[in-house]
Amino acid sequence: MKYHSYTLNNFKKMPQIGKISARHQHDIEVVGQVLPFKASSYLVDKLIDWDNFEEDPFYILNFPQRGMLTSTNYNLIDEILKREGKSDTLKKKVEQIRLSLNPNPNGQKFNVPEFEGSLLDGVQHKYRETMLFFPVEGQTCHAFCTFCFRWPQFTLKQKKFSMQNSNPMIAYLKANPDIQDVLITGGDPGIMKTSMFEKYFEMLTESGISHLHTIRIGTKALTYWPYRFTTDSDADDLLRLFERTVKKGINISIMAHFNHPRVLDTPEVQEAIGRILSTGVQIRTQSPVLKHINDSGKIWAEMWRKQVDLGLIPYYMFIARDTGSHEYFALSLEEAYNIYNDAYNSVSGICRTVRGPSMSCDPGKLHIIGVTEVMGQKVYALRFIQARKPEWVNKIFFAKYSSDAYWLSDLEPAFGEKEFFFTKELNEMRSSQHDLCHTEGVH
Ligand SMILES: *Cc1c(COP(=O)(O)O)cnc(C)c1O
Ligand code: SF4
Repeated sequence: MKYHSYTLNNFKKMPQIGKISARHQHDIEVVGQVLPFKASSYLVDKLIDWDNFEEDPFYILNFPQRGMLTSTNYNLIDEILKREGKSDTLKKKVEQIRLSLNPNPNGQKFNVPEFEGSLLDGVQHKYRETMLFFPVEGQTCHAFCTFCFRWPQFTLKQKKFSMQNSNPMIAYLKANPDIQDVLITGGDPGIMKTSMFEKYFEMLTESGISHLHTIRIGTKALTYWPYRFTTDSDADDLLRLFERTVKKGINISIMAHFNHPRVLDTPEVQEAIGRILSTGVQIRTQSPVLKHINDSGKIWAEMWRKQVDLGLIPYYMFIARDTGSHEYFALSLEEAYNIYNDAYNSVSGICRTVRGPSMSCDPGKLHIIGVTEVMGQKVYALRFIQARKPEWVNKIFFAKYSSDAYWLSDLEPAFGEKEFFFTKELNEMRSSQHDLCHTEGVH
């Protein structure tokens, strides 16, 4: 199968275009100026139910929707397009709206480590045991998700995290024996050629880093392009590479991103999963919980069950990040928790390896354990699954209940406390990191 994708420039050439109403085509044209979109031919041909496209989770996941812009912004772009078409005015307006959509949430820059006097661009090291690596070849995706916080990487050039010369990374790994896992991420590293995987795997496994146990690959290829593991010209080589690496005693885990149970129904994805698992590689699954896509416990329960049936391990349910078209997809913390709870309650223990709902915010990955009552006060019970400071992990704390909290920034400490237990230390860490940003500005 030859990879092919549709974007703003050619979506009218889709064989299914006749199924999209004129109003929706216009919405794609207007909103698509601001929010980049890309849909793989596999998604278009095999996943979207075109007879019911308006409610189809994959259509909403990959094609711009009117509600993703405020009506003011929508009308502004619409008017400029009508008045002067693609022009400098349009470009400026688009840039302005994009910047207002919080392109770099949660201080991601903050996680780039300093090593031997310079910043290790292309690496993020936030949690002691796990280092993220952004190979430059993996900074795009087979298709773009409309909810994704990585969209600035595809649109605003200066915001790219990636690493071209990877050797400083190996030196950094050697100097940090606490790191047990390297998580290769992007964009979507699944887009890389096998030769690239070979290069990076070899570096990681042949450099004598005995504390490295696991290589994870964060990818949505199983959703958008399962042929990556079946019929692509270097698919077999990739599987052989997996096999060889696993034989060396390294765990490989594909952190697969699935947003809806229907992704798991095609013969293509099932074949790809079978082939991956046969190499000894594990597949763990994760997804944000999103309005319009997967906002019911029933959908999640079905998704986890199907995943377990296919040999996958449910891992994370995330709260969507506050960036891009966040408002369109956002669920309150309480709604997210209820969805998780409903799903968790209706599956067997074998599916309950999943953790969530979890917010990846500045201090760490924050697990919403529940909404409960303590000493007569309605509260959120929370704990860190991961934390910027390892001592914070697993500590339970409480926030005042609020029905319209969407993110940590909407929460206040319960029981009249002035701040959360981590606030002071977090602020201290922030201010010491300011010097770092300053250094960076000088280059
Ligand atoms: C989620 C995440 C990790 C991995 O966390 P695990 O709990 O080990 O899966 C590592 N680094 C960052 C920045 C993350 O957001
Ligand atoms: S990085 Fe992942 S979630 Fe974001 S657009 Fe790419 S495939 Fe989608």
